Amino acid sequence: MLLSELLDFPKDLQVVVFDFDGTLVKLHVDWDALRKLLSDKYMDDFGEEQTFSRITLGLEKVVARGDPELIESYIRTIEKFERDNIKEYTFFEEIVFFIENLEKLGLNSNIKFAIFSLNFRSTIFSILSKQNLLGKFQYIVGREDVIEWKPDPEGLYKILKHFNISNEQAIYVGDSEVDMEAGKNAKIKTYLINKFIANIKKARSKK
Ligand SMILES: [Mg+2]
Repeated sequence: MLLSELLDFPKDLQVVVFDFDGTLVKLHVDWDALRKLLSDKYMDDFGEEQTFSRITLGLEKVVARGDPELIESYIRTIEKFERDNIKEYTFFEEIVFFIENLEKLGLNSNIKFAIFSLNFRSTIFSILSKQNLLGKFQYIVGREDVIEWKPDPEGLYKILKHFNISNEQAIYVGDSEVDMEAGKNAKIKTYLINKFIANIKKARSKK
């Protein structure tokens, strides 16, 4: 069976949107160190505990305080952490194959690629360019490009608007519950990475 049948792709699929960490690539980073850094900063700034167990939820607490300079300082802290700490990563081979071999998988070679991630655009750009994959992506939405983070669908709406397509002409691939929720909120067909990879393998083995 063709991949489009295995995964029941929309008939007029034009754009495949990927999450970044855990989907395109595995970033080998100590995210707990970032959580600790942010919790300590929060204690310094507000004299209160905040776990940042999910970084976005902690950030939303900062946003709710309504001080743009403080919000900015947290954003910069995370950006700097990503810049200084993300040195090692592993790309998912099947996903790279998919991106580079649409035709071999029986797909339209005009399909375009985008990224919707909670990592910073600078992090995503630098890793993709080291892997010579940056040119494959027509549009990238990072942490700093949206005001409402996943599972809010703002980033996916931005992508649909950028390509001037409808929700039925895109799919979203991610690895986490917030990815699935964001896709659902935008009414875009959404896939968990494991299922996506398993079916790429299946489609390749039939060749
Ligand atoms: Mg992810």
